[in-house]
Amino acid sequence: MKFATRMIHEGQEPDRATGAVTVPISLSSTFAQDGIARPRSGFEYGRTDNPTRRSLEATIASSENARHGVCFASGSAASTAVLNLLEPADEVLSNLDIYGGTYRLFTKVYARYGIRFRFLDSHEAKAIGSALTPATRLIWLESPTNPLLNIVDIRAVAALKTPRCLLVVDNTFATPYLQNPLDLGADVVVHSATKYIAGHSDVIGGAVATNDPRLHESLRFYQNAAGGVPSPFDCFLIQRGLKTLEVRMQKHQANASALARRLAGHPAVSAVFFPGLPEHPGHETAKAQMRGFGAMLSFRLRGGRPAVERFVRRLAVFTFAESLGGVESLACHPATMTHGSIPPEERARIGVTDDLVRLSVGIEDEEDLTQDLLQALA
Ligand SMILES: *Cc1c(COP(=O)(O)O)cnc(C)c1O
Repeated sequence: MKFATRMIHEGQEPDRATGAVTVPISLSSTFAQDGIARPRSGFEYGRTDNPTRRSLEATIASSENARHGVCFASGSAASTAVLNLLEPADEVLSNLDIYGGTYRLFTKVYARYGIRFRFLDSHEAKAIGSALTPATRLIWLESPTNPLLNIVDIRAVAALKTPRCLLVVDNTFATPYLQNPLDLGADVVVHSATKYIAGHSDVIGGAVATNDPRLHESLRFYQNAAGGVPSPFDCFLIQRGLKTLEVRMQKHQANASALARRLAGHPAVSAVFFPGLPEHPGHETAKAQMRGFGAMLSFRLRGGRPAVERFVRRLAVFTFAESLGGVESLACHPATMTHGSIPPEERARIGVTDDLVRLSVGIEDEEDLTQDLLQALA
């Protein structure tokens, strides 16, 4: 079956007991057992496994064409589960313009346990390949990157890595509707389900998908041992989001490409970063590995931080806020918000400067969004 059908049906057969068409929110924390080591239904304790979560995990796995999906209480908890596959003295190679919270998790948490992190400011697969050392156990990529929408050739990086080294792709920006990293050679996909997957800015959640049974077993072990699991209600909201991911993404994308074109020709704007623009350096690679260009875009405003300050105060339809991927359009200032935890010198090196504005283009009316940007720019 195709994506839209699977997101509505995979793991979501009508309830056997009642016929309920929607997967019930199963709140019980414990489940009856018929004897020693004889759970009645396959469930024992809600941290270990839960019917609503199990159903969501099947839909998540299907979204990434994966055998296994494992869900967590946030995208950051999902990233933590993957980093727990590592041992002290292992090395992680990553692109530098990643989500600020992931950078913080790397440098402020896992670096304390003897794991080494190296950041590359090149998005060329060749540069990533030549930075590999025998200690490199994991390559962590975002593509498109946050907030500059750089594109990394996932297939090329997968071809360059050694068998000991896992390729992990944070697919939050692209969504499983537009990009499936496992099909391009990645070993593990990570999602902040908080963003497009849930899509309505009303739940925090995360997911990991993989085809490798041993990795799946380790992730499951960690999920139960550390316990950073989503609540049944969170699972319900995330699964509800997946049902409309395809239709939302189509509208998100159409709006984003219209706005990118308007911004690219505007005198107050000095640069636009959107992989859908033919002049974007990653345009061809994006076309080859994605089924669309997504709905995140960034631009530089002439006049720097004071101009950004005036611009965001003028916005009326766009809300000035962190996060992304919801139905409503958001604008943010990465240097002080999402990427505030990256030291200023590093930020300057990767181009996250004070004149940069990032937009998460929502699914409101295209003309209303265009007019809002134009009046604020004016
Ligand atoms: C938001 C985000 C995360 C972290 O997810 P949370 O659900 O906020 O913990 C990780 N990666 C990317 C790309 C994100 O946008």
